[in-house]
Amino acid sequence: MEKIALLGSTGSIGTSSIEVIKLHPEKFKISIITCLNNYKLLMQQCEELKPTFAFIKDRKASNLFQMELSSSSLNTILIKSEKELISYIQDGSIDTVIAGMVGISGLKLVYSSIEAGKKVLLANKESYIVAGELLNNLANKTKAVIFPLDSEHSAIHQCLSNNNGKDIKKLYITGSGGPFLKRKPSTFSSITRDEAIAHPIWDMGPKISVDSSTLMNKGLEIIEARWLFGVEERDIEVLIHPEGLIHSMVEYIDGSVLSHISVADMKVPIAYGLGYPSRIESGSELISFTKLSSLSFSDPDLENFPSINLARRALKEGGTSPVVLNASNEVAVQSFLDKKISFLQIMELVEYIMDKLEVKSVQSIEDIFETDLIARVETNKRINSLNGTPN
Ligand code: MG
Repeated sequence: MEKIALLGSTGSIGTSSIEVIKLHPEKFKISIITCLNNYKLLMQQCEELKPTFAFIKDRKASNLFQMELSSSSLNTILIKSEKELISYIQDGSIDTVIAGMVGISGLKLVYSSIEAGKKVLLANKESYIVAGELLNNLANKTKAVIFPLDSEHSAIHQCLSNNNGKDIKKLYITGSGGPFLKRKPSTFSSITRDEAIAHPIWDMGPKISVDSSTLMNKGLEIIEARWLFGVEERDIEVLIHPEGLIHSMVEYIDGSVLSHISVADMKVPIAYGLGYPSRIESGSELISFTKLSSLSFSDPDLENFPSINLARRALKEGGTSPVVLNASNEVAVQSFLDKKISFLQIMELVEYIMDKLEVKSVQSIEDIFETDLIARVETNKRINSLNGTPN
């Protein structure tokens, strides 16, 4: 029985993971379950899955959860601190960590999981974007395995199948183009929060949905692919594919192109990661090929969606540049969700902060947290000055 720590269990990756795991009760057992603040859903999940440990990051929600837990007949133990959580994750009884939380705040737990040599199914792409090289070096030492739970990267992993990377000519990361693919750029300034989070293909959390609407998600995925597969930035292309059926492609030096096709359902990459090297049932719908009308592809509009080039710039600059990109983007997206800035200001802010902050080298995880904090403070300062609020 493989024991799993499911981090971010109430989000879209967490709930999809639970659906897959429930199909295989003889193979997997969720021992640790965590979330940010949705204690009601976490309680339902505990009643169903009976994990040994639960953790809620938000203090108030954790107290409310404790009250419900005390009046239930469950034996689940509520973990009180992140430090304690790390020791349970690193314990020898845990085999696999599913990192489904959002944002760089997941980095410490991802780092700790890799430090303890676990199999890490990584959906928390922000951690890998800011610390890819560092996490890879650590994984080499501890024999941890990092498995992508991003549909595009899972697709590439499947198309590579043990290839050593030397025969690759290009990686194609596909993307639907987001909700504004066909919108006139002259109307971008009036884009609302609700329009931005209404993704045409994938049902995801608000942060990644906004990243998809700015195409920053594709930019971040270029960085992610660089570190996962060791392919240079210039050999990673983004292709807009609105039907969302092909999830990425690998072109080899002989001209062969392998692609991965499935319906847009995160249960597919989750089942691939959990079962690897075997294939296991995911519970996803199957494609009906005769009902497909067409598969279309186009280049992204880099002028009106500058995020892809900002991400490329961060990769080329190296060091702390991806940290600055990620932090300013996280703050800008949250401010857009809070209706403090406009859609167009998201990318303007990221570029402004990247121009402003000097790129430094990254020696340790502390360097990353330090730059992350500085970039957040600077981004908030800029937002306040744009809004005429004194700092
Ligand atoms: Mg993706």
